[in-house]
This record gives sequence, C-alpha cells and structure tokens, in this order.
Amino acid sequence: MTTLALVPMDVAGRLGRLRARLGGAGCEALLVTRLGNIRYLTGFTGSAALLLVLPDETVFVTDGRYATQAPEQLGAAGVEARIEISGPAQLQVLHDAATGIARLGLEANDVTWGAQRRYASEGFPELELVATEGLVEGLRLVKDDGEIARIEAAAAIADAALAQVRPRLGAGLTEKDFQLELDHAMRLLGADDVSFETIVGSGPNGAKPHARPSRRRIVEGDLVVLDFGALLDGYHSDISRTVMVGEPSATQTRMLEVVAASQSAGVDAVQPGTDAASVDKVCRDVIADAGWGDFFLHGTGHGVGLDIHEDPRVAATSTATLAPGHVVTVEPGVYLPEHGGVRIEDTLVVTPTGHRRLTNAPKDFSLS
Ligand code: ZN
Repeated sequence: MTTLALVPMDVAGRLGRLRARLGGAGCEALLVTRLGNIRYLTGFTGSAALLLVLPDETVFVTDGRYATQAPEQLGAAGVEARIEISGPAQLQVLHDAATGIARLGLEANDVTWGAQRRYASEGFPELELVATEGLVEGLRLVKDDGEIARIEAAAAIADAALAQVRPRLGAGLTEKDFQLELDHAMRLLGADDVSFETIVGSGPNGAKPHARPSRRRIVEGDLVVLDFGALLDGYHSDISRTVMVGEPSATQTRMLEVVAASQSAGVDAVQPGTDAASVDKVCRDVIADAGWGDFFLHGTGHGVGLDIHEDPRVAATSTATLAPGHVVTVEPGVYLPEHGGVRIEDTLVVTPTGHRRLTNAPKDFSLS
C-alpha cells in the first residue's frame, strides 16, 4: 500500500471559479495568504508564498528556497501563473502587479493586524482593502473526485493500521506506547504523516475528550477512546473507535449502546439538503433521552479535507446545509469520569442520493 495511484485533481479549474466569486465579495482581485488555500488553488506545497488573483492574471510570489519547486508544482497542476521569486521586495512585486485595480480583497481570517497595517501603508496605499471571508473555503467545501479519493485512501490506511495493532490494547501498554504503535503502523502503510496527534484515552483519561496520551498503563476494565487519522498528499482522515479491555460494567455497556445508537442515527441523517444542525440534534437527542445530555461535551462533527477541521461544522450553531461533495464527520460521545469515555466517529462523503462512509473499521468494542 506504499504506492498509491490516485485520481488526479482538477487544480487548474479552481482559479476561474474563485474569480467568479470576487465581484460578489466587493473586490476585483484577491490576495490569497492562507497557505492551505494557495495549495488548493495552485498545487504548491511549500511553507511560504503569496498569490495575487487579478481579473486576468495570476501572480505567485515565493522566495529562493522554492525557485525550482514552485514552477514544477504549478506546472504539474496545469496552473497558469506568473511566478516571481523574490526576497524582501515581495510587496513591491505585488503592488506593481495590482496597478489598475481599485479594490483588493484580503482574507480577513488569515491576515494578522500587523500584516493588514503593512498592506495598507506600504503595500497597497492607493487601493481600498476589502475584508473577505470564506471565498476559497467556500470552494473547498465541495470536494472533487481526486480529493475524495485522497481522503478515502487516507481513511483506509487508518483502518488497516488499527486492525493490525488493536489486539495490543490488551497487552499492558501505556497510552503513549499504543499511540506510537498505531502511528508507526499508519506510516508503514503509506501515510505521509499522522493527521493530528493521535488520541488514546484510557479509563478516566477517556472522559477528557481530547486527552493527550499519557504514561498511564491500559488495564482490565478500561474503555479506551482512540481518535486518529492518516495524512495523504495533503488530505486528512479522521476516525474514532472505543475499545473495551476486559468485561464492561453495566454502566459501560449502556454507554457503548447509547453512543452507538446516537452515532448510527447521526450517520443516517447525513443526506444532501439536510441542515448540519439537524444532524447534531439527532445525535444529541439520543444521548439526552438516555439521561446523559450534559455529558456530550462537544459538537457532533466537522468537515475534513486539506485541514483536519474545516467547514461545514456539524453543530447546533451551524448554518450549513449538506450538499454532494461535502465530507463530514459524525462523532458523538459520552464522558463520565468514573466510568471512562465512549466516542464513535466516522467520516462520510455526501452523495447526490445520501452518503458513503469512508471509514470502515469495525465498530464492535472487542479487542480483536
Ligand atoms: Zn473529528
């Protein structure tokens, strides 16, 4: 599984779709500063770049470290852009390229206060700077086939890794030891990295939804919450499973049943045209009916893609409506300090007729 043939992505088509959104945001051009957005629009994976999207030209500025990589990656993606390799004069290059426009959009959720002041005073003093939100992120909501293939392949790596190491939860390891074995298995199966710091929460630690793995030894009577994912070609996967070591108590059995019922109801609710907030409500109602409404301590889910947490959010406050191509998690949980934690999470892609599950590790709670 270390060599993966992945469906190509239509990177080059994205700039045109972005341009079509600029007028509605009140600007003629957009300075893209968020690196994940630059990657999405150009295929560039480096750690420093600026992208100026003008009405009929795209200017990509980076520094000398990427003098070879940038033309290679933009070329491979079929992106037509003027590539400028520049040191301290980057703002001057962008200023000169923006001659002739009046209103320049900035990514308000990325640009720092200091950067905004620099753009206003030194970079583009003649231009009106417009705060924009979600212009590129709005495109990123709907994944193309290549993106879905990457998330699915990353999820398959995580599933296979868990299958390999799952019995080791009964071997008296510490949380940190098990984390290392799971992460190692994902890397050997072809992951570029872990998607985020793997969560291994055993016993009382499992009742803290985002506990960092500790030196606590996993023992009989523990529920163990595992939340992890693989990173592949920039795309994340995300899955949670809960495993019971030894025999569950009556309360633990009930927790496992209730969370499984909640999660399954939430998964069923993921359909095109459904409000994300109603998926959250479906999950929450099952847990509230069991009397544990106050112990479901987080939102139900989130979008997954180039970022591990992105739109659409699946929460009570979400205003999103699910649509084909959205990739979201459903991950309710119950956390009781005296009994432990239970969380079950799948990642789903919304399809024209319903959804498809991308995470397929078994959901039973046994060790193997
Ligand atoms: Zn998640």
